[in-house]
Amino acid sequence: MGNYIATLLNASPLLHTMNSVGNRIAFTNCHIFDGIHSELKEDMTLLVEGDKISNVGHRAQLTVPDNFYIIDTAGQTIMPGLIDNHVHLCSPFTYEATISAIRQMPMQVLLNNMRTVYSGVTTVCDMGGPQGIIKEFTELADKNHIPGPRYLNCYTLISPSNGKKLGYPSQVNVLNPFNAWLLEGQVATRPKTIKALKKACYKVRDSGGTHLKTTYQPQPFSEKKYATQDDFPIFNDEWMRTILEIGKETGLVVDIHSPYGMAAERCVDLAMAVGAKIRIQHMTFDIDFKDSIIKKMQDNGFYMIPTVTVFGDAFQMPKFVQWLDDDTKSHMMPEAKRQTKAMIQKGINIEPYSGQMVMECDNAYLRKHFNLVKQNTQKAHEARIIGIGTDCGGTNTGFFGRICSEVMHYFEFGIPLFEILKYLTSVNAEINGLNDRGVIQPGKLADLIALDGNRLLDPSALTEVSMVMKGGVFLKYRGEELTPF
Ligand SMILES: [Zn+2]
Repeated sequence: MGNYIATLLNASPLLHTMNSVGNRIAFTNCHIFDGIHSELKEDMTLLVEGDKISNVGHRAQLTVPDNFYIIDTAGQTIMPGLIDNHVHLCSPFTYEATISAIRQMPMQVLLNNMRTVYSGVTTVCDMGGPQGIIKEFTELADKNHIPGPRYLNCYTLISPSNGKKLGYPSQVNVLNPFNAWLLEGQVATRPKTIKALKKACYKVRDSGGTHLKTTYQPQPFSEKKYATQDDFPIFNDEWMRTILEIGKETGLVVDIHSPYGMAAERCVDLAMAVGAKIRIQHMTFDIDFKDSIIKKMQDNGFYMIPTVTVFGDAFQMPKFVQWLDDDTKSHMMPEAKRQTKAMIQKGINIEPYSGQMVMECDNAYLRKHFNLVKQNTQKAHEARIIGIGTDCGGTNTGFFGRICSEVMHYFEFGIPLFEILKYLTSVNAEINGLNDRGVIQPGKLADLIALDGNRLLDPSALTEVSMVMKGGVFLKYRGEELTPF
């Protein structure tokens, strides 16, 4: 489908009237959270030149030079663009290939990009999906031909292929071959030999990927257990070691979907033996996060991305159906909405028979374990081994633009707001080895967002981002979103 979207949109850079004022912008009379310090600096001036921040300081110390276009923010709060450490941005939210699904799919992926960047997220760590379409959208978003965030890519999940079932994730079964052809790739690559496994890993590196993504989950998100590994396959040690060795060799961090405690610990041990860098994706939710594993992760610079929203959404299922009916911001194309609603409703209908699953998820089971997610996230926060990520696009309720949901969970868990804001900016940047963003300092990328008034002390302020700038380009200004269609 190469260039389908580019053709559709006439492939021209997005033009917001605010982008015609020149490439020297001065924001005056603003509060600033700089990504590092636990404070709001008041009465500040921030200068942007081209795609970078050129200066920042208190009004009394920093005079706006000539030739700068001055924007008096009237007390808005400006902070670095947010970084989401776990999304599947090219998820089509369809589970069967109807004609409508096929026709609307590119627009759905475009909407995913738009909802993400307009919620204030200017960088995402993508955890994989159909590779061809990811590549296409990455390029379009980088050039600001569509409103979308900067991507860090792994292109594909690398999952086991043994056994009667294909293993996690099962979307690969429902995203049928025709769908996969259209999207130029499957949700996951499932190598059958070690040689094919190595090839898949090197392909990520050769495509310019920044991380490898794999799964190590021994059973579904359910009480239901399988008798053999054939029924819910995971990689064995030799295969995991192979991925980790390539991670070490290529310098790519290995992201492991591993929400069960024992499995996560096994991954940590294997990574330590190999000397690879890993991140565990999704908080351990079945057992206490042991001090021994926390220590190992601290000592080795390993991180955990809890994605609390995935577990917390299990409390909200009927609300999501309502939300889909009421959605006025057009998050979803009609066919994606119809299929997603049906999928969620199916989960609600089987609820009395807990033990059954929709897309490997048994919501009763996730709810039952939520307190462990809370305790474990608190412990990981105290040990400073977490970042923040949402898994938008990775579940059937993972609608885009919901980073605030993850923020609210952290806040309810007692994590101080400024700490959460650091996770969203400088800490997530550091976890990804990015030293060009996530903070407001001269020389850093002008990826900035603004919130109305001095509202940063209330976490729900992040639901209303009024300005989004990416590399000095306005994508949203005073609440007005650029739309490419
Ligand atoms: Zn995911």
